[in-house]
Amino acid sequence: MLSYRHAFHAGNHADLFKHAVFVALLRHLLKKDKAFWCIDTHAGAAQYSLVGDWALKNAEFESGISRLWGMKVLPPLLADYVDLVRAFNHTPELRYYPGSPQLAVQLMRRKDALQLFELHSTEGDLLEKHFRGSDVKNRARVEVHKGDGFSGLLSVLPPPSRRGLVLIDPSYEDKQDYKRVATALREGVKRFATGTFMVWYPQVQRRDAAMLPDTLMNLQRTDWLHATLTVKEPAAGGLGLHGSGVFIINPPWTLPAMLKEAMPWLVKMLGQDGEAAFSLDYRMA
Ligand code: SAM
Repeated sequence: MLSYRHAFHAGNHADLFKHAVFVALLRHLLKKDKAFWCIDTHAGAAQYSLVGDWALKNAEFESGISRLWGMKVLPPLLADYVDLVRAFNHTPELRYYPGSPQLAVQLMRRKDALQLFELHSTEGDLLEKHFRGSDVKNRARVEVHKGDGFSGLLSVLPPPSRRGLVLIDPSYEDKQDYKRVATALREGVKRFATGTFMVWYPQVQRRDAAMLPDTLMNLQRTDWLHATLTVKEPAAGGLGLHGSGVFIINPPWTLPAMLKEAMPWLVKMLGQDGEAAFSLDYRMA
């Protein structure tokens, strides 16, 4: 049974890093007129209250989005993302946090389509409700699939226009997720070779987490980019998240330069001790 609920973690350093990169990938697709799909295999609930009990339990957002909220000058990669979070809040106070489906729908056009998968029944209901209620007039088509995102991904690929972004963002609560991510990426790229695929993974003290980026690099002959943001030294007891990474297949050529500017800045703003650091590697023809 799944027990992970993203509301406890919404807006933390890992969400911030992932969502800023996700927004940059969507922006790149929006540069062309031709329609595209965004497929989010692990969508979550789409919106989270930061004033509710769950978010306040560990107040993880305070060492994430809160640190950027009042900043007037930010590197472009972060400014774009923070503006979207601000637009979602409508108020000067930070009260709500948009998940990946909400960020996507704020950017996508009527001709585009958002395919969302969520396995947890309560999160799936919240996701469905979130999109049922909002204004649908000029919005991208949204389809919510309550089920497994790994197999679901393969069933919807490739998008009809052969343009699109796939976000694979599991909770890794099920330790098989590390293997399933690698399989989904390998099979996904076979079906949609020109697509952009983004995998998020946690920096935790587990061998399969540490090995995931190398596994993904060795799967593909295509272009890739790998970036990590570490915010603190790993905990002595081995528990907890000390950072996170994103691995991207077919990244836009503009992304390395944007990250080179934003990552040192993120280390400075989100770093919690002297071990805070970033890495950025890529192979782009
Ligand atoms: N992508 C969301 C965002 O950035 O706002 C956060 C997603 S959260 C890290 C992971 C979600 O995946 C959880 O809501 C969990 O219930 C869901 N989940 C776990 N296993 C799944 C599976 N096999 N297929 C689809 N969803 C799954």
